[in-house]
Amino acid sequence: MDIRLKNGLRPRPNVAISASTTSGAPLSPLSAPAQRLSLMQAPVLVLNATFEPINVTAVRRALVLLLKGVAQAEEIHPTEVHSCRQAVNVPSVIRLLTYRHIPQQSRALSRKNILLRDRNTCQFCGDTFPASELTLDHVVPRSRGGRSSWENLVACCYNCNNRKGDRTPEEAGLQLVRRPRPFTLHTSRQLMRLIGHKDEKWRKYLFY
Ligand SMILES: [Zn+2]
Repeated sequence: MDIRLKNGLRPRPNVAISASTTSGAPLSPLSAPAQRLSLMQAPVLVLNATFEPINVTAVRRALVLLLKGVAQAEEIHPTEVHSCRQAVNVPSVIRLLTYRHIPQQSRALSRKNILLRDRNTCQFCGDTFPASELTLDHVVPRSRGGRSSWENLVACCYNCNNRKGDRTPEEAGLQLVRRPRPFTLHTSRQLMRLIGHKDEKWRKYLFY
């Protein structure tokens, strides 16, 4: 079975082939099991048939979509994954072959996504923290009817969270760095850019 031909994946780069055949050694440190695993979880940008970015998935899922013939690779990493007999290019950007109607860009309201939106920055003191040192704060406290929504949840460090307590920012003498944005197409693109900031190949699809 030739995956590349069937699904439009490009031939592997020459440099990889020569490196493989001359030395016989693994092409990259990625052949170590742990790194291969992390490669399989690396983010892949998913484009609609119209090249519009619609989602981010993991390499593992992207390879399934390619194998099923549902999508084709638009950009690939200079690395391959090896199975028993074949090497498959690792996709960086894939495109669905048939147009999928996306009625409304929706993304789960989750701690992870709120922290992504706020770039791991406490929205009261403006400092950046590792995710483990941040909590979510209801700007209008739940006890005052504040909802769990994109517009009322912000990333907050524990210091500021303690200081604020069960009060509004005004009552606690705190000011929001930025008004929490509702989820929009803009937020979606921004999140995709954040996820793909290390991958130059995403740029042309996400920057206009
Ligand atoms: Zn803070």
